Amino acid sequence: MPTLTELKKFAQYHLVRRVHDHPAREEELGLVSLGYDPARFADEIRALSDRFEVREVEDVRYAGRAHTIFSVTTPNAHAAKKRLLVLSGVHGNEHAGIVCVPEIAARLERERDALADVAVQILTPVNPVGAAELSRLNGEGYDVNRDFVLFLTPEARVVRAAFDAFRPDFVVSLHEGPQEATFMFANEHVSAALADRLLAALVAGGTTLADKDYFGATLRPRGLSPSSPAARAVLRLWAATLKMMPTGEFAARRGLPELTLESGWRSPDRDARVRPHVDLVLAVAHELTHAAATTH
Ligand SMILES: [Zn+2]
Repeated sequence: MPTLTELKKFAQYHLVRRVHDHPAREEELGLVSLGYDPARFADEIRALSDRFEVREVEDVRYAGRAHTIFSVTTPNAHAAKKRLLVLSGVHGNEHAGIVCVPEIAARLERERDALADVAVQILTPVNPVGAAELSRLNGEGYDVNRDFVLFLTPEARVVRAAFDAFRPDFVVSLHEGPQEATFMFANEHVSAALADRLLAALVAGGTTLADKDYFGATLRPRGLSPSSPAARAVLRLWAATLKMMPTGEFAARRGLPELTLESGWRSPDRDARVRPHVDLVLAVAHELTHAAATTH
């Protein structure tokens, strides 16, 4: 369990939009790096261009270097009936949500025939400076996942542009946190029945679901932090007073379901951290396929 000091530190991230003036490293909360290598990752993403539409959507400058945000889209984008947007690495130091992308692409490729009706676009890493610097924050010290009211950061503007251009039916954002095991936040447009089926898919893939979130609150059902009237009131207040909004609420206000996945960053087991990200994206894509088949 995190200590009280650690919890205070983490709570601070929910109250301050610009936490530092630089991409500060986070070492107090037991985060185990998965050894993300920006150059190698960029090579892996570019190597997908024979099977996916790969674009470099933004170069974010930091300390004299350009850090690329990539877009990887399945080739069926124009004909597909449903569209899934995946946000990878909004918090740069949550590496499992980034290094999983080549494996997600491999699975999408392998299951391409079954998923013909679903287009998938992945933005990765949404926060490339933070990813390279092992920081939650962007190059100017902003938490990108608080910036969906004011859009002060180029990273949040890239996400908004993808919402506008790709017009997703569903959004999945890949994160990690200091809790043990894995859970997900669902916004108000994700039904309980759908969340249950997706949790079952995670368990079937070997993922351990958390019974508590990172503040120690009990999760019911295990692995899920559902939207509630109280949580929505807090989100509204947060947006109105502090002008802070995460992607899940941004999606909710556009009528879109979003899941925010949180694997446990304290684990040195790379596979256990990467697997839920891969399995969730694929499970959502298959759910959208079923939805495309039953709606006309
Ligand atoms: Zn995060």
